Amino acid sequence: MKEHFKCTCVYCGETYEFKELTLDHVKPRSRGGQDLTTNVVCACQKCNQDKGSRNWLQWMRDRFGHKPIREKTISDHLAA
Ligand SMILES: [Zn+2]
Repeated sequence: MKEHFKCTCVYCGETYEFKELTLDHVKPRSRGGQDLTTNVVCACQKCNQDKGSRNWLQWMRDRFGHKPIREKTISDHLAA
């Protein structure tokens, strides 16, 4: 799973050591997100914690501004 994203955080786009990355539920389980690989992405601990249970797109735009390539990567993944 983590290899799939090339050890890069899907949100901030930074590359991390394998062990520094976490698996994040794009749609939080607390909001009905499912434990499926299409709902799980590779994220750094900082982004994972900061995002919490917020809507990923709103959170990303608040934090990083509009990043079409990263947003597409995530939405493609969700739709896979
Ligand atoms: Zn990150």
